Amino acid sequence: MFTRRNLIVGSGAALACGGLMPAAGLAASSVSLPEDFASARPDAVKAGPARGNLVAMTFDDGPHPTLTPALLDMLKERRIRATFYVIGRNAARYPDIIKRMVDEGHEIGNHSWSHPFLSRLGSGGVLRELDRTSDAVYKAVQRIPTTLRPPYGALTDRQAHFIAKDREMPTILWSVDPEDWRRPGSSVVASRILNRTGPGAIILTHDIHAPTVRAMPTALDGLLDRGFEFATVSMILGRRDWSKLRWRLPQVADATS
Ligand SMILES: [Zn+2]
Repeated sequence: MFTRRNLIVGSGAALACGGLMPAAGLAASSVSLPEDFASARPDAVKAGPARGNLVAMTFDDGPHPTLTPALLDMLKERRIRATFYVIGRNAARYPDIIKRMVDEGHEIGNHSWSHPFLSRLGSGGVLRELDRTSDAVYKAVQRIPTTLRPPYGALTDRQAHFIAKDREMPTILWSVDPEDWRRPGSSVVASRILNRTGPGAIILTHDIHAPTVRAMPTALDGLLDRGFEFATVSMILGRRDWSKLRWRLPQVADATS
């Protein structure tokens, strides 16, 4: 497994030019960060700036062997870019799907290795969950997630601060939750998304549920009809496009941490 130290050193150029860190990146970069970043809780955000017409679709818990590729087809057809908060053990199992996501312009975020309540773990346990996931993504696509979405949104402020400092990963929550995991049916998922989305929205869904994926054509076309444009999470937060970061990661196969 790669140590994070190696990854930080290795990706120093990307970090410096990408403005990835709320603290260190802010002074040096000209990107405009959303207000959350500069205010009470700079380590976690729920939405992008509520101006313009950008929204971010996020899909958690995958990749799923059949549903995720079907979703990728839908996104590709509409030229929509999204963010996938993958579970590490699924990423390790389906590296080809991770690769396809990246090839098609999507962003990969970290959703932990085994989907625990991170808020119940100590620092060491949290870091193991995150690093193992980043490692699996790295093995698939030679890049690492730069944002975290904690399973169930369960993370203490202290943990979010620690992770932002120690792993340069801000915590990304959401502003629109159609509660698709309760499986209310495709039409309900689609209408909740359409009714609740405004500029800057970060929309939470799960690509492991068939009704959610079936809801996407209606939801996505509806949002496009209303004039929204889709961005990845990094882009909606005014950061550099994750897919364009210049990664300089170590080409080591078996370093142990
Ligand atoms: Zn989840």
